[in-house]
Amino acid sequence: MHIGLTGGIGSGKSTAAAALVGLGWHLVDTDAIARSLTAAGGAALPAIAEHFGADLVDSQQGLNRTALRQQVFADANAKRALEAILHPMILAEANRQAQGHVHTVFDVPLLTESQHWRARVQRVLLVDCDEAVQVQRVAQRPGWSASQALAVMATQATRAQRRQIADAVIDNSFISHGELVEMLTKLTQEWQTPVKESRS
Ligand code: ATP
Repeated sequence: MHIGLTGGIGSGKSTAAAALVGLGWHLVDTDAIARSLTAAGGAALPAIAEHFGADLVDSQQGLNRTALRQQVFADANAKRALEAILHPMILAEANRQAQGHVHTVFDVPLLTESQHWRARVQRVLLVDCDEAVQVQRVAQRPGWSASQALAVMATQATRAQRRQIADAVIDNSFISHGELVEMLTKLTQEWQTPVKESRS
């Protein structure tokens, strides 16, 4: 079974993903794939340099993320162009990493925005979170402030949009780590249990 795991920034996707790994699931982290594609020597760099300019790419340090982010924030066409480069590469690498694994969870922050990903997985699990809690958790990270967290959240899908595409929702706002693991255990067991055919 292939599950797509999604949620907003700081909602608890990585925490849920780690718990699922503890339950025996194979994890494919699309954020990590995106980072490696754009790190020094990354496979996406030539196409990014060609489209956005060679000055954005340093052969030693990889992509100048801040400069690229500025372009993409300001220009919807630039955003689409970047996605057109990265998304097929991320999907191909995710498929490669999933090969040979029966029970795989794909951590996909942008799953709500991507019809492609929704079609790729059998179930979508949303880690939902109260927005004030999200801000509080993100602001605790080194180098992050509450206003930066809010700015990122403003660019992401809304909770309502995410809920619309989810097969199951875990509200991770006010539960303990243990409760989260318990909910994930129950849910994944349910999803893996074949539904009995009703007899007439
Ligand atoms: P991002 O989108 O930025 O990658 P994420 O959705 O993966 O974030 P996590 O990194 O899993 O979110 O969680 C954000 C923070 O909240 C982490 O510090 C994590 O330890 C904490 N956290 C997650 N779930 C809970 C919980 N149920 N109770 C308390 N803290 C939690």
